[in-house]
Amino acid sequence: MPRIHVLEEHVANQIAAGEVIERPASVVKELVENAIDAGSTQIEVRAEEAGLTRIEVRDNGSGIEPEECQLAFARHATSKIRTEKDLMRISSLGFRGEALASIAAVSKVRMITATSSERAGVQLYLEGGEVRERQQTASPKGTCIQVCDLFYNTPARLKYLKSMQTELAHIHDVLARLALGHPDISFRFYHQGRMVFSTDGDGKLLHVIHAVYGLNTARSMIPIREEAPDFELDGYVSKPQTNRASRSHIIWIVNGRAVKNASLTHALLDAYHTLLPQRRYPIAVVHLRMDPQLVDVNVHPAKLEVRFSKEQELMKWLKESVSRQLHRQSLVLDGPATARPVGLLAGSRSKPLQQREAVNQQVQFNFMRPVEKTVRQAHTAGDIPAKPSENPEAENPKAEEPKWETVPKPDMVRETQPLNLDAGPNRDAGRQAPECAALYVEEEASLDASLPSRSEEAGERLPMMYPLGQLHGTYILAQNEDGLYMVDQHAAQERIFYERFSEMARDMQVQRQPLMIPLTIHLHPQEASLLNELITLRKEEILGLGIEIEPFGQHTFLVRSYPAWVPPDEEEFWLQEMLQRLLQHGGNPSKISIEDVLDEAIMGLACKAAIKANRHLRLEEMQQLLDDLRQARQPFTCPHGRPVVIHFSHNQIKRMFKRIM
Ligand code: ADP
Ligand code: MG
Repeated sequence: MPRIHVLEEHVANQIAAGEVIERPASVVKELVENAIDAGSTQIEVRAEEAGLTRIEVRDNGSGIEPEECQLAFARHATSKIRTEKDLMRISSLGFRGEALASIAAVSKVRMITATSSERAGVQLYLEGGEVRERQQTASPKGTCIQVCDLFYNTPARLKYLKSMQTELAHIHDVLARLALGHPDISFRFYHQGRMVFSTDGDGKLLHVIHAVYGLNTARSMIPIREEAPDFELDGYVSKPQTNRASRSHIIWIVNGRAVKNASLTHALLDAYHTLLPQRRYPIAVVHLRMDPQLVDVNVHPAKLEVRFSKEQELMKWLKESVSRQLHRQSLVLDGPATARPVGLLAGSRSKPLQQREAVNQQVQFNFMRPVEKTVRQAHTAGDIPAKPSENPEAENPKAEEPKWETVPKPDMVRETQPLNLDAGPNRDAGRQAPECAALYVEEEASLDASLPSRSEEAGERLPMMYPLGQLHGTYILAQNEDGLYMVDQHAAQERIFYERFSEMARDMQVQRQPLMIPLTIHLHPQEASLLNELITLRKEEILGLGIEIEPFGQHTFLVRSYPAWVPPDEEEFWLQEMLQRLLQHGGNPSKISIEDVLDEAIMGLACKAAIKANRHLRLEEMQQLLDDLRQARQPFTCPHGRPVVIHFSHNQIKRMFKRIM
């Protein structure tokens, strides 16, 4: 057995570095967080080869005093906290005093820093944590840290890195979160000398969302702003039609720190219940502010997770706030902005598939493509020569196509939006300036629209519509002074029934209706034992739903009554639906959420009972349906999250016919 000894400092530092510095993106995160803590208003990040050969972060913050420069690289050296009490109320991003020590342990670092432009600054060079050079230097106020040859002395770590594209995507993700967390700071991010994205630092979160996610997403964001005694909420959530296949675009910023928190995300998704298709998630950037004593940020080495001390209260409030906002908005989908006149299609019939693909590509989100922002930035930042052309892409479509343009980001995956109809071919290209301007005007307008003074009555969110006829026996065409509407008759009635049934089924005094002949149900032995347990453990709740059921023999059950609200001829379907969903939830019968089961079963019944496609409706029936829909609490999607109404405004129609351009 070898003898026990204390590890040499540089080995210990390398081990500790592993926790904080996992990949190039971790370096970027730590350096930029330091820049933010130093009160910077401008932060510039440059990376070469996804940060592996070089990462440079330059800020205009406080700088570091010459006598403290070396200390900054010592482990557990920090200016941000002093005593254990400070740990309970952290308001800076850093506090562990580990980042610079960890970064220096696994790379070659050069730091230039000055606390004022008049006094000389310091330049320090370290290799593997050891100071190799130190000299006085002239420098503007602020700090610039260059990290070269990351992991040069820990080859094992290098092996775990993914492709350059993936690492770059991680950096992008980290920076996007930091920028979204600090709209008042101007960020610029360059990779291989080319701008990837930048933000103005004008304090407007929507502008940062625009820079990070693009114009279409920014336009479909709904502002939320709420205050409670303990919490403050401020941010944007997407209209349901703008959604993604993963939750990773739900971004929480708690007291300025981007964090992951499953409970927050869960509460938000609850607010979107029935507005989104299954396995689709909104985009959200939400700032939460609260007394630092109510959050514990010291639960994760990379400070990515937090714990809340008033968790339940916070979640309930969050869900209600978002839900209220979603119920105030008109969520009618807009029809396409441009459409090809009939006849012009003829020439391209030979390749309809490619054409569809081309359109699909247009709807993709190009996180890595700097074009949109570049055009705007070019005028102010001066980093990129402004192109005179209105459409830089069309001018030279293949020019300078960097490898990383097609990066599939692990987190921020670019994808088509299934329901987004507002992105016609080339919509974004070539019309940047006016649209950007419109966006900013709209922000104010939409903020106003969201104020509670507006009528909250659901009926008023969907205007009166007058039916013109039916298309393919499936869609109602209707009009009013605002243009043309297409309504999916099945989806509309599904929504109406879903809300009606939900209300009746949750009525405290659900009436029971005895069955003339009790319904006999035979089950598989396993299911039978689960149902038996359920009947014993949750008898009152099941009876409260209006269902009277009892065991009858070994694997057989008798249902004697059903809830009276169930439409005629649907009793058996309803009972089967409830039972099946109960059994599907399986597991521990005392834990099954009867509320969830009921909700799913009501969706099933609403779908079954709603008029199907290909059914002729008379004009009066259409009018009735539209009127009922206007009374719905949430008339814009069916309970499965599909759209119910699509609107073509007068102007859109005029544009399609080229009456206006
Ligand atoms: P922490 O951020 O947890 O305090 P770090 O190792 O990241 O620990 O940084 C150590 C200290 O170095 C910080 O507390 C801060 O005083 C100083 N420092 C680091 N980066 C900067 C910067 N960009 N500007 C000013 N001071 C900085
Ligand atoms: Mg730090």
